[in-house]
Amino acid sequence: MTPDPVGWTFDNSYARLPADLHAPAKPMAVRAPKVVVLNHTLADQLGLNLHAYSPETAAAVFAGQELPPGSQPIAQAYAGHQFGGFTMLGDGRAVLLGEHRTPSGQLVDVQFKGPGPTPFSRRGDGRAALGPMLREYVISEAMAALGIPTTRSLAVVLTGEQVYRSQVQRGAVLTRIAASHLRVGTFQYAAARQDETLLRTLADYAIARHYPALGELPNKYLAFFRAVAERQAALVARWMHVGFIHGVMNTDNVSIAGETIDYGPCAFMNAYDPATVFSSIDTAGRYSYANQPGITQWNLARFAESLLTLLDADEEKAVASAMEVLNEFPATYQRHWLAGMRLKLGLRTEESGDEQLANDLLGWMHAAKADFTNTFRDLANPELLAGELYQAGAFKAWHGRWTERLAREGDPTADVFARMNAVNPAYIPRNHRVEESLAAAERDDLAPLNELLEVLASPFDARPEWAKYTMPGDDVGYRTFCGT
Ligand code: AMP
Ligand code: MG
Repeated sequence: MTPDPVGWTFDNSYARLPADLHAPAKPMAVRAPKVVVLNHTLADQLGLNLHAYSPETAAAVFAGQELPPGSQPIAQAYAGHQFGGFTMLGDGRAVLLGEHRTPSGQLVDVQFKGPGPTPFSRRGDGRAALGPMLREYVISEAMAALGIPTTRSLAVVLTGEQVYRSQVQRGAVLTRIAASHLRVGTFQYAAARQDETLLRTLADYAIARHYPALGELPNKYLAFFRAVAERQAALVARWMHVGFIHGVMNTDNVSIAGETIDYGPCAFMNAYDPATVFSSIDTAGRYSYANQPGITQWNLARFAESLLTLLDADEEKAVASAMEVLNEFPATYQRHWLAGMRLKLGLRTEESGDEQLANDLLGWMHAAKADFTNTFRDLANPELLAGELYQAGAFKAWHGRWTERLAREGDPTADVFARMNAVNPAYIPRNHRVEESLAAAERDDLAPLNELLEVLASPFDARPEWAKYTMPGDDVGYRTFCGT
């Protein structure tokens, strides 16, 4: 076989799992594929040379019209708790092509989002509209540049088909790259089938793929549960550090690999307010900013329930060991959160008052309606700290405590500020900038989108010419929607 000039190296390990876990699914034929954006930087990291495609071929491939060699398209079965209610789901608008082996040996899922109906589509059309796919592209790539575990976006192409939503929209397909698409909901699905062998096979697969070091442990399934809980704690702490609100933390959107997955109604907070919710369907605020750690623990409890029969033959013992891990979660999360907050405040050492110091800053930000992102940048910039917002007594008092705390570490201020600027982003995907770039893309003007992507690819690198990207914009009443 001649090697593929683009470099696709497919394995189809998921497709080899028992047939209960997936179904064959072919991307639908579409009229007029056209590339909107290709991620050459990511392609390079994956060992793919997308320049080997003509624009027409790239469009055909990423619209699912010409499948890469070695791929085997399937839809994955899964279940999930959606806003607390359990449902059997599955990939209703996604098709997994298989796993590509990167030059470093990592296996990554290649998935199309929006390529038409699958056996799991229920009443849906399996399609996606351009706006939501570009939104996922922008925000997932921003998260990656912020150093936060996430699925990636390789391409968005128009299909030339219409998609019927509240308005007629242009159809598009996103190519998503993920460590895997194993979800808490995948385990809930296997558990709901009440097929012990299926569940065990799935767990062994997940352990081998994402936690290989645990494979030899005596109770590897409990160790697996603990390791997933640890990654989720670390992940949600990272979200909190940048003001990211996922918006739809259903158990089918919780990755076993610990990546941020399923960018729907997510958005970044501007003014610090723990109660912030953007999603139009989250009327009760279940997935608000402040609720994210607690919801993560709730989701992990659902994960534990699905694993119980593997944890111990004695159900009581299984529950007890799962509860032990679940009860550790708040402390695990808090450890990750505080470690990150110390970094944001430029602290190297640990003192018992640090948590209070961090919380008092947040308390002031809430009261003063200060911008979450900009405040941390301003702390490391005396010129900006001379602004009116920071002249209030409450802030000055806090600043005095922080300055004393830093003095006890004794580092030169310039070093502290440089450290802070390496972890506190100058640029996040501001809601109005995201909307503006998507609106322009709808008019086939890709300049704002491409500039936004360029800025977000270097979030810590403040440049005078990018000043407008630090402006919060007015997001009173800003609402986000699931991309359905
Ligand atoms: P999400 O909100 O993207 O996590 O999707 C929740 C569930 O709805 C998943 O099982 C999706 O596959 C399914 N779904 C979402 N949109 C569509 C659609 N347009 N057609 C079919 N299924 C869909
Ligand atoms: Mg989902």
